[in-house]
Order: sequence, then structure tokens, then C-alpha cells
Amino acid sequence: MKKTEKMQEALFYEKQKNDLVKCLLCPWFCELKPGQTGSCKVRENVEGTLVTHVYNKVAALSTDPIEKKPLYHFYPGKNILSIGEVGCNLHCNFCQNHHISQCRATEFYGFHSVTSEQIVNRALSVRNNIGIAYTYNEPFTFYEFMSDIAQLSHENGLRNVVVSNGYINPEPLSRILPYIDAFNIDLKAFDNNFYKKQTKGKLKPVKETLKTIAGSESHLEITNLVITSLNDDESAFEKMVKWIAAELGPEVPLHLSRYFPQYRSTLPPTPQKTLNNLFSIASQHLQYVYLGNVNEGKKSSTFCSSCGTLLIERNGYQTKIISADFDGRCPKCGAPANIVMG
Ligand code: SF4
Repeated sequence: MKKTEKMQEALFYEKQKNDLVKCLLCPWFCELKPGQTGSCKVRENVEGTLVTHVYNKVAALSTDPIEKKPLYHFYPGKNILSIGEVGCNLHCNFCQNHHISQCRATEFYGFHSVTSEQIVNRALSVRNNIGIAYTYNEPFTFYEFMSDIAQLSHENGLRNVVVSNGYINPEPLSRILPYIDAFNIDLKAFDNNFYKKQTKGKLKPVKETLKTIAGSESHLEITNLVITSLNDDESAFEKMVKWIAAELGPEVPLHLSRYFPQYRSTLPPTPQKTLNNLFSIASQHLQYVYLGNVNEGKKSSTFCSSCGTLLIERNGYQTKIISADFDGRCPKCGAPANIVMG
């Protein structure tokens, strides 16, 4: 740790004998001796106190279309100020942001110091902006800073969006839920062996997170990155979408994203045909299924699940809503489309 760095005590941990600490934020439950850092690479035991090295800092800050998160059913066509840091509590071989997610906070030199107030003021000044997205790396690893910003953001009438792997324990999740208006959670596969081998995590906590969010007031969408030969088995995939429909609801939007080689993974890009097949399977069980990272306009547009009317047309990040007074219901048949319009 740099001598000049101001330390921020972490939330959710227990002090144990001999200055040992046990972190309770995520399912790793890291037990750390003084000087040791957790699997997320951002929380360290400093002389018997668990501290976070990512408070009052950002590594990335940008204004993005909300569709880029991806969220297709939450304020379509609007912008969102997006922030990220370093660290992640999963270690996916195919990570698209590994330069920030797999980096140790104390060895990262691209941070900008910033306060919650400055982030919220910036969000208030951006045109067509609905709020703040916590994204790019795993936001729950900067829980303390995110929580402070999110509360201030709500006080100022802004919305909060979390883009996450869902690998968090129930108590911290329930404490932050009232401040988060929408989530996009990665469901990487429906197979614990996949999670173990490819991410070093477990599937069960992610399923629990999804069920908790689906049962809350927050809006939920799911992303599944389809990776050649690793999670593209059609029967396992169908089991996953049936579980989403039964446990979370058929109205929860599912984004199937095309994989390209990244980080430690050299498998070839997912064939378009595979994505089209999985899209057809998912569409039998879920009302809103989308393809991402592909050039397929029709499969990224929103149609009424009842009468098939086109509601939102998308072309890349260009979004065209059917009418200026669209309120989230199909103007033709009146069916709700699970779209938050504000
Ligand atoms: S948040 Fe980090 S330190 Fe805490 S249990 Fe998870 S990986 Fe370990």
C-alpha cells in the first residue's frame, strides 16, 4: 500500500483471534492474516482491520447508452454515466476486462481520486442521463464506495444500475437493494463445473442473487455469454432458460452475447448459427430474448410478446421507440412489456 493512501475500513467482516479477519461480502469468505489480500485483490487485512483500497477512486468513467450495459427494458434510448474500478471476485479465463478486473488495486496506477459528491454532480450535468451505472469491473468489490454514491444519487433523483456477476452474499445484497433500480447479472452457465473450472466460483450463489433481485422492486435483466464448446450445449441451455422462466419469470429479458477470444481463452468465436439455435430455444420459454455482439437487427429489437408488434427497434446502439407517448405497454393490444419508461 502506498504510504499516502487514506485507508477506508471495509463493511461486512469479522475480527478473529491473532488479528485474523474473515470477509463476509462474497461467497469466498476469505480468511486473511495481516498483510494478506482477498481473492478480489482489493480488500486487505491491515493490522487486524479489513480495508478497501478502492474507496473514493475510479479507474474508468464514461457516458454510455443504457443499451450498452446491456439493459433494453430500462429507460430505452437514455444515457447513463458509467464508472468502474479494479478487482473482481471471479477469475474467468475469457474475461473481456481482465486489465482492470484481474489487477491488484495496490499495483494499479490509473486511478483518479474522486468523491461521491463529484460523481453525482457529474451525473447531474450529463445530457439525457438517467443516473449512474456501476460496471466495467465487478461493482460489488467496491461495495462501500458504490453504496455511498448510490444513496446520494437517489437523494438527487438519479437512478442506479449495477452490472455484476451476482457473486455476493445475501446480507450485503439486501442492504444495497433499495438503492439499485436495475441490474444486469451474468449467468455464465447452468453448470457448477463450468463455474468451478472457468471462473473459480460456484453457481449456487449466483442463482440465489438472481432470485432475490427478481423478488424485489428492482428491474432485472440477464446476460449469458455463449462460448464455443464450453456452455453451448442445447439441452443444458434449455434447462437454464426453463429455470429462468419458472424461478425468475418469463418476462425477464435474456441477452445472449457472442464470445470472442479474450485473456486466457483461445477458443474460436461462437458461430452465428449456434447463437441463432439458442435464441430459438430461449424464445420458446422467455418473452424477451436478444442477441448481442452480432449484426442481427431483428434479434436485438423488442416485440410485443402478445401480438408481435414492434415496440423498440435497435440498430447497434441506435434505439427507435414506436411512439413518443409509449408507456411500456403495447399500443396495439395493451399487453405490458416489462419496460421501465420513467
Ligand atoms: S469480497 Fe474479496 S476479500 Fe471479501 S470474501 Fe470476496 S474475494 Fe474475499
